[in-house]
Amino acid sequence: MSVPRVWRRRKVLYRLEGAKCPKCGKIYFPARERCLECNTTPLEEYLFSGYGKIVTFTWVYTPPKGFKSRIPYCLAIIELEEGPRLTAQVVAVEQNDVSIGMPVEFAFRKIASEGKEGVITYGFKFRPKGYPNHAK
Ligand SMILES: [Zn+2]
Repeated sequence: MSVPRVWRRRKVLYRLEGAKCPKCGKIYFPARERCLECNTTPLEEYLFSGYGKIVTFTWVYTPPKGFKSRIPYCLAIIELEEGPRLTAQVVAVEQNDVSIGMPVEFAFRKIASEGKEGVITYGFKFRPKGYPNHAK
């Protein structure tokens, strides 16, 4: 990802944003420039509700380099209400709490810089749906 794009994306740190095709209505996450269904460009910004459910999950005991986190942490594939899926960390849960189909909500994004090159990567965090807002 180029630097200007990374910069542009900073404004959406606390929102879950994708793209919607103005012609056929297909919704994409992450956002893209062109619709894969009907080739329309540009696409419109689309703001997700942030609600979804866990499709599958695993517990990670060895985080990737540069990704500082309490271990173990729960890494899940989450299907958003609107359909797209993403991989995200699930926070505010203990190992016995997590199950397939569990409703979750978007909490925030985290930026981690990796290595000497300072490669910036994004992490997405979800929490149980209805979890108190102040908790992380
Ligand atoms: Zn389209």
